[in-house]
Amino acid sequence: MKPETLFYIIIAILIVSFIIDQVLDYLNAKYFNDTLPAELQNVFDEEEYKKSQAYKKERYKFGILTSAISLIATLLFFFFDGFAFVDELARSVSNHEIIIALVFFGIIMIASDILSTPFSYYSTFVIEEKYGFNKTARKTFFLDKLKGWLMGAVIGGVLLGAIIWFYETTGKNFWLYAWGIITVFTVLMNLFYARFILPLFNKQTPLEDGSLRSQIETYASKVGFTLDKIFVIDGSKRSTKANAYFSGFGSEKRVTLYDTLINDLNEEEIVAVLAHEVGHYKRNHIIITLFAAIVTTGFTLWLLSLFIGNPLMSEALHVSKPSFHIGLIAFGVLYSPISGITGLLMNYLSRKFEYQADNYAKNTYAAPPLISGLKKLTKNSLSDLTPHPFYVFAHYSHPTLLQRFRNLRK
Ligand SMILES: [Zn+2]
Repeated sequence: MKPETLFYIIIAILIVSFIIDQVLDYLNAKYFNDTLPAELQNVFDEEEYKKSQAYKKERYKFGILTSAISLIATLLFFFFDGFAFVDELARSVSNHEIIIALVFFGIIMIASDILSTPFSYYSTFVIEEKYGFNKTARKTFFLDKLKGWLMGAVIGGVLLGAIIWFYETTGKNFWLYAWGIITVFTVLMNLFYARFILPLFNKQTPLEDGSLRSQIETYASKVGFTLDKIFVIDGSKRSTKANAYFSGFGSEKRVTLYDTLINDLNEEEIVAVLAHEVGHYKRNHIIITLFAAIVTTGFTLWLLSLFIGNPLMSEALHVSKPSFHIGLIAFGVLYSPISGITGLLMNYLSRKFEYQADNYAKNTYAAPPLISGLKKLTKNSLSDLTPHPFYVFAHYSHPTLLQRFRNLRK
């Protein structure tokens, strides 16, 4: 294959995936004004429903704008040999392959983050603000960015540095070592994210004694579940949108409730949401999802090992000296159709798990408070009640409210 052919394959993948996304978004937008199913008539009142329609439309238009600009910027970068330019820049800093790669990705990441900052700023302080969701102070917004950069630099730097080092010392077998280190890292993140990373961004406090805590404990002991780690985080620091999730396993397992959830839902509804989370744990969803992620990573790295040594990958991007980091960029785009498919599979699995967790909550606690809790959450985040089925299939990690409602009513 000629380098030019590979170059145009890469460009074609970028354009086709943009078109697929736009078509899905467009189909979904055509359903915005659909009549509401009878079961969901009472989620919004007239005025709130109008507001949710306006919110969806505004998000949709903003989505078209950002993805179009992002595609144009990416294509310009490819056509004007941006990667060759940054590669040269990085090579002027050092002769060491690992340092070059770290500088290379550092420049690319920071540049793309700076370009996307005006858009995320507009999204938070104009759109979310207008609909009353935004609670983020400007200081928090920029501090989050800074912390994100630092964390990315430390974690990304260590992992990437290790992987390139494996590549240089073990050659083709590097993917096995890389898989090992990423697996260890993933498991550690699963276990300790809430303990070490989350506190950098949020304040978390143990749920205080009181009727909510005792209701949760009564439920937990009824289903034979030791749950001593129940934390409340200050989600209200950033947004009015509410959430709750389960993380970790073994003695590190814990439930995290947003303070916004505690404000919006009554105690019965919170216990029902928690019962759903316990269902995820009891049905081993956390372990299965983690295992699936590890297998996918192994597969990706193995494929990478077949391509990375080929000078064609660098030549396609008009870089004369082949290197791991340039190969990684080309591979990243070439792999995206496959990751699109594994993403669909993971979403499908995740939706299955949501039904199972809902059923668990229904069987061990009760369906009505879960239904009313979900309705409140939907209402307060102005969520879409009538998404297009294709859009749900491609993007939804949870079934729609209607699907969950019907399943819980069965
Ligand atoms: Zn769930």
